[in-house]
Amino acid sequence: MLNRGIFVSLEIRKIPSFFMPDIIQLLPDSIANQIAAGEVVQRPASAVKELMENAIDANANSIRLIVKDAGKSLIQVIDNGSGMSETDARMSLERHATSKIRKAEDLFTIRTMGFRGEALASIAAVAQLEMKTRKADQELGTLLVVEGSDVKKQEPVACEKGTNICVKNLFYNIPARRNFLKSNPVELRHIIDEFHRLALANTEISFSFTQGDEVVYDLPAAKSTSFTGALGQRIVNLFGKTYQEQLAPCQEETDYVKVSGVVGKPEFARKTRGEQFLFVNKRFIRSNYLNHAVMTAFEGLLPENSFPFYVLFIEIDPKHIDVNVHPTKTEIKFDDERAVYAVVRAAVRQALGAHNLAPSIDFHEDINLITKLGNTSTESAKQVYFEERFQSSLNKSNQQNWEKLFETELGTKFSQPVSQQSIKIESDLSGSNPNPETEEKIIAQLHNRYILRQIKNGLMIVDQQSAHERVLFEKFAEDLKYRSAATQQSLFPKTITFPAADFALIMEMEQEIKGLGFRFEVFGKNTLLINGVPANLKHVTEKDLFEGLIDQFKHNQSELSLPLQENLTRALAKRASIKNGQKLEREEMQELLNSLFLCKTPNYSPEGKPTFYIFEVGKLESYFNRL
Ligand code: ADP
Ligand code: MG
Repeated sequence: MLNRGIFVSLEIRKIPSFFMPDIIQLLPDSIANQIAAGEVVQRPASAVKELMENAIDANANSIRLIVKDAGKSLIQVIDNGSGMSETDARMSLERHATSKIRKAEDLFTIRTMGFRGEALASIAAVAQLEMKTRKADQELGTLLVVEGSDVKKQEPVACEKGTNICVKNLFYNIPARRNFLKSNPVELRHIIDEFHRLALANTEISFSFTQGDEVVYDLPAAKSTSFTGALGQRIVNLFGKTYQEQLAPCQEETDYVKVSGVVGKPEFARKTRGEQFLFVNKRFIRSNYLNHAVMTAFEGLLPENSFPFYVLFIEIDPKHIDVNVHPTKTEIKFDDERAVYAVVRAAVRQALGAHNLAPSIDFHEDINLITKLGNTSTESAKQVYFEERFQSSLNKSNQQNWEKLFETELGTKFSQPVSQQSIKIESDLSGSNPNPETEEKIIAQLHNRYILRQIKNGLMIVDQQSAHERVLFEKFAEDLKYRSAATQQSLFPKTITFPAADFALIMEMEQEIKGLGFRFEVFGKNTLLINGVPANLKHVTEKDLFEGLIDQFKHNQSELSLPLQENLTRALAKRASIKNGQKLEREEMQELLNSLFLCKTPNYSPEGKPTFYIFEVGKLESYFNRL
């Protein structure tokens, strides 16, 4: 658009005017570039993004990022990609100079990250730039030194294959912009965000990131050959091992669009947004609309006000999108946005369903429905069925969902052997059972650890400790929220003396601890008199409970960064829970399971361990060669 302005003003300048002096002048390149830079380079992180994207476009498989002073004094990107010839190196700094598109139609087939040809010109206009670059087939590379768009030096140089660009003193010539930069931690956060996005979208490339003398990330190229495997490795390298168990792979494809990636299991959802990554053809985008698609798929599975982790890649023929919406390119237009929405939602639902995170859906259960759908393919029939089942189950309360799972089905095609067997065991166990209707479904406690229960499509194995932690966690969270905790008064109050630091910590959290149902008062130096504990907690003494709570809280504090209330709630749930190895009465098991499936998020313990596993009848069938 600036170009057009330039042509017009050239025409005007040709007209001689003696009486009315002409006032319109062409801006020098350096100023034009500075203006363009205002759009492209807002802060160090934008330069990081542009330089790294260029390295990716140059097919590098190793990219190193070095920043000093949160990028304010230095941003360096070193790649081993294609490199540039002498002339190209010079050209790359011109505005609207790009090797990535040649004609207007190319805009509709873009596969590269860049295409505007503005980034290097913009960066060079507002910084001191030094570039060394060499193509594989050249012996010598080129060194270019540029300052505020002025080329100070270009000469041959011996260097590695690829490109090495240093951007120094960003905005050195625009003090107003420089003064507007935020503190180093804030600018660094932005750089890290850009780094995360590019590293997630390019698992086959090894990346490193050094800030000052500190190596922030050193990410090897992912080894796994499967897409989600590689993505998983990258996520773990970026965000830590704890992510390993929380990922559910995700994939859904139609003729129009393909969605793949991973979603975090609901239990790991965070209280803050920010770990949601959406890419279109490997380009990070923001889209409230598509985020909504993901959130609806999670509906009913997430604790209130929490946000799931996800990394989703949308692949679509570039002719269906317009990336040319904004220079920083995090917005995108699809020609059929609703189709993308539907596929994203289906992909996430499928991932949650397949991992038993959502109420399990059994396709075999109603064979008639699938054949009834007649000439549609089985796959799409399943899809329709899936959608319907899911929809209807999501609309009901959580409890109903789970009840559905427990309906005993004796007459179906494949449940015969197991149900006969379990009926026998049940009748053995439930001899004096006052209420066989509701209790006959529990089969046994296994090794004093697991509760076995017959359910509609197989055998459910519940981990008693994880399950109880979940139940208590949700109960305590409610108690705190609604101040509804009941207290069991002690007949004989106990005193406990704490180390000074712990005592101070307890005093700081006094309100919250009392909110959980504890009653205590200060009783001398660093000493408390405990005269009440949360009601209905069996299996633990008051002293163990209180001390355990503080220990666990401190442990959580050093391992995880949780908000105070969540930490306390989790700590108490852990300490007060039924432990593995504990023998349970039938009623206790029954009560535990009932409470578990009244939970908002029954599938996982507060730490994210699964609470149960379902052994499907189909699996047993195949084991016994009955399929
Ligand atoms: P764009 O990426 O939109 O084409 P840029 O200003 O970012 O615009 O880069 C201009 C051109 O310089 C690119 O089209 C590419 O040909 C070349 N280039 C930039 N960085 C690199 C690099 N790291 N390796 C090889 N070529 C590069
Ligand atoms: Mg570029």
